[in-house]
Amino acid sequence: MNKHVFMFDDTDANGKELLGGKGANLAEMTRIGLPVPYGFTISTKACNAFYEAGEQLPADVKEQVDTALEKLEKTTGKGLGDRENPLLVSVRSGAVFSMPGMMDTVLNLGMNDETVVSMAELTGEPRFAYDSYRRFIQMFSDVVLGVDSEKFERKIETHKQLHGFSADPDLSASDWKTLIKQFQTIVEQETGRAFPQDPCEQMILAIQAVFGSWNNDRAQLYRKWHGIPGHLGTAVNIQSMVFGNTGNDSGTGVAFSRNPSTGESKLYGEYLINAQGEDVVAGIRTPQAIETLRDSMPDVYQTFAETCRRLENHYRDMQDIEFTIERGKLFILQTRNGKRTAEASVRIAVDMHEEEILTKDEALMRVDPEQLGQLLHRRIDETSSFEVLAKGLPASPGAATGKVVFSADDAEDKKAAGVPVILVRPETTPDDIHGIIAAEAVVTTRGGMTSHAAVVARGMGKACISGCSDVSIDLANKTFSVGSTEVSYLETVTINGGTGELMLGELTMADPELSDEFHRLLAWADDRKHLGIRTNSDTPDDAARALAFGAEGIGLCRTEHMFMDPERIPVVREMILALTSADRQQALDRLLPMQADDFRGIFETMGSRPVTIRLLDPPLHEFLPDKEELIKETAQLEITDPASNELKTKKELLREVRRLDESNPMLGHRGCRLAMVYPEIYAMQVEAIMHAAIDRAADGAAVRPEIMIPLVGHVNELKAMRRLVKESADRVLNETGEYVAYTIGTMIEVPRAALTADAIAAEADFFSFGTNDLTQTTFGYSRDDAENKFLQRYIDDETLADNPFMVLDSEGVGELVKIGVEKGRSVKEQLKTGICGEHGGETSSIAFCHAQRLDYISCSPYRVPLARLAAAQAAVVEQTGAAKEKINV
Ligand code: PEP
Ligand code: MG
Repeated sequence: MNKHVFMFDDTDANGKELLGGKGANLAEMTRIGLPVPYGFTISTKACNAFYEAGEQLPADVKEQVDTALEKLEKTTGKGLGDRENPLLVSVRSGAVFSMPGMMDTVLNLGMNDETVVSMAELTGEPRFAYDSYRRFIQMFSDVVLGVDSEKFERKIETHKQLHGFSADPDLSASDWKTLIKQFQTIVEQETGRAFPQDPCEQMILAIQAVFGSWNNDRAQLYRKWHGIPGHLGTAVNIQSMVFGNTGNDSGTGVAFSRNPSTGESKLYGEYLINAQGEDVVAGIRTPQAIETLRDSMPDVYQTFAETCRRLENHYRDMQDIEFTIERGKLFILQTRNGKRTAEASVRIAVDMHEEEILTKDEALMRVDPEQLGQLLHRRIDETSSFEVLAKGLPASPGAATGKVVFSADDAEDKKAAGVPVILVRPETTPDDIHGIIAAEAVVTTRGGMTSHAAVVARGMGKACISGCSDVSIDLANKTFSVGSTEVSYLETVTINGGTGELMLGELTMADPELSDEFHRLLAWADDRKHLGIRTNSDTPDDAARALAFGAEGIGLCRTEHMFMDPERIPVVREMILALTSADRQQALDRLLPMQADDFRGIFETMGSRPVTIRLLDPPLHEFLPDKEELIKETAQLEITDPASNELKTKKELLREVRRLDESNPMLGHRGCRLAMVYPEIYAMQVEAIMHAAIDRAADGAAVRPEIMIPLVGHVNELKAMRRLVKESADRVLNETGEYVAYTIGTMIEVPRAALTADAIAAEADFFSFGTNDLTQTTFGYSRDDAENKFLQRYIDDETLADNPFMVLDSEGVGELVKIGVEKGRSVKEQLKTGICGEHGGETSSIAFCHAQRLDYISCSPYRVPLARLAAAQAAVVEQTGAAKEKINV
């Protein structure tokens, strides 16, 4: 029989995969002797068994739950449903990767009409007992029986109004008793049966509901956003209850062992006195900062601070710890590696290495390369003048501008219409997850630094202000006000999540400031990685930005972007429309100095670093006006001015546009095929490159141009192009009497090139895998259309695990890369190889390139830091077998 249920102190209770993150940590904490309320975990495998059995708990799991319950009762000396000494438990989800608030929880399970009486007697606090019972009915009915919680809330509201109470604590035991009766009637009306009194039945139903919540909408959405596979399942943890709501010597809170926003090494958290578990996370009451506990309960604070240190040392990572104080005694309810912002991630990794907790390799593995992008974004220019409208807690850093919306659905709708939005809510709940995904940033008027909005936003790298109590929201009229200033729906605001400030309008932004820790971590990465990191840049500005981020050269300069300059387009058109070679040459002669200027600028920025320049690639009609527009314009002129010269010119243009038009331009007359027919185009580009290189060399720079031919499919194409490039380059060298070394290479971006890479290598000094086109031509999916037409569907229904235009398809496209490298090197051992498709900036694709021993990857400037770290991680994983960590999921 498979073991599905594990006591917290079972010696074989092991591993996150089986016990979920929470279960594994509860077992671990129990083992090291921390004050953890006792309990047991039902494994993630049982969750899969539950689904296989048609969403029923299989008999063997039930049996094991019974046995575990007996042990729990024996250890605690209490009994589930026991009138003398009732055991109450919490039933909580706990997946392998934490998914805060996405799944369901039931607290105070075990309460019924009888145990509530004995609880009131035992504790001497009838108010507390009846309050707990009504909370249980409310939660259980919502989560397990599907009764809308609002129905209960309305009863409470009515009762309060009737008796003139303003807040829940004003209600006495007998008020709660009355409400409990009303609640039970609601349950009967809504479900057709009485509220279940048998605690064993309550438990089985609750376990099933928590397993069932693995597949609720918000959990699915959260998994999709974080790339968590659906087959993992959740575990369920049953834990005996401790109460933070038994008076002013009790409380409950959440704390991080370091600051999850900045990474500062200082205990960071908050708590509520006389409150129960979910109150803090739900963000309904704004809690107190943890430091104040030092004054109110010095002994508890002392023990807690020591426990946090112990946990951090044990797990060797920043911990996110939930605790409860019951009548002055501290209990730890859960610990996990805390979610953190990119800034905190980097600082914690670097600090922990400095503190000798982590090795350099471990520190490198601790930061998710994908997170680094968050640090490169622009921030509010503090030197510009702006007025702060409201200030809340700096829950998640970053600057964001957007239009105000007040509901998650509005956020989603507006985002779909291309409008950036800031979601402003009293607080967020897990049901708002789609709105948080859609929004640029979130502002809540209630809740603390560990509220739902704060935790989720930090995990997603979005800016967030919580507890912004200056703001008062009028949801019905879709406005908020701060003093006398009213801000309405879709008005633009800017927020600074790092300071908690909210401003009206759009503010001036400035370049990012990169921390010392960022530079230190990436310097370690550079020492560790094997892959060279280059950038795809077409302008001196882009190149300079990439250099600042640590690029070592340019791996792809797409020259067509230089042709698109509005000043040049007329000359480019003349070149395209020329009827004779001589006319074409005239236009090219005018383009040459412009191109030479472009290259001069790039060489100047890049100094002696390698610069790969790709000759013209796209079909020529991309430089002509849009056909449909032209047809419309000619038709109009036929009516308004049929004899005009303009009409004549437009008609000629239209004829040319039609002549160049292709059914499949991506597979058409583009890449080297252009220069096979019009060699003078590439000749001009090569001359421009060489002139620029010579000018720079004359200034003493050791320029290194690498001339790259696109879309080669047959070696004969490359032979012809190599001859052309060489003749053109050498002509310039001979004419000027100068010498600059240059190399000639090719892109490998159609399958035939990869399959015949040995023949091609004989003509190439280097290969650069153009995996955008190689993916298009290997799958036969159009780069331009696939995503909108069917690819998203393939990803949603898991026909494909990933979008192959983003994540390199290692089995198909990757196999061609592998063949290309092997065949190429079989002819030229030292053949330089790189990749310059979008995949060069994606973590797992970079690991693939590392494994194939490519010399470099090339990616857009903003991906360069990611690539440096991902390349280092690939080297660490290969050498040490270290597992990649996913901290923020
Ligand atoms: C490629 O195809 O991967 C490539 C880098 O070239 P482009 O995207 O310009 O076609
Ligand atoms: Mg290409």
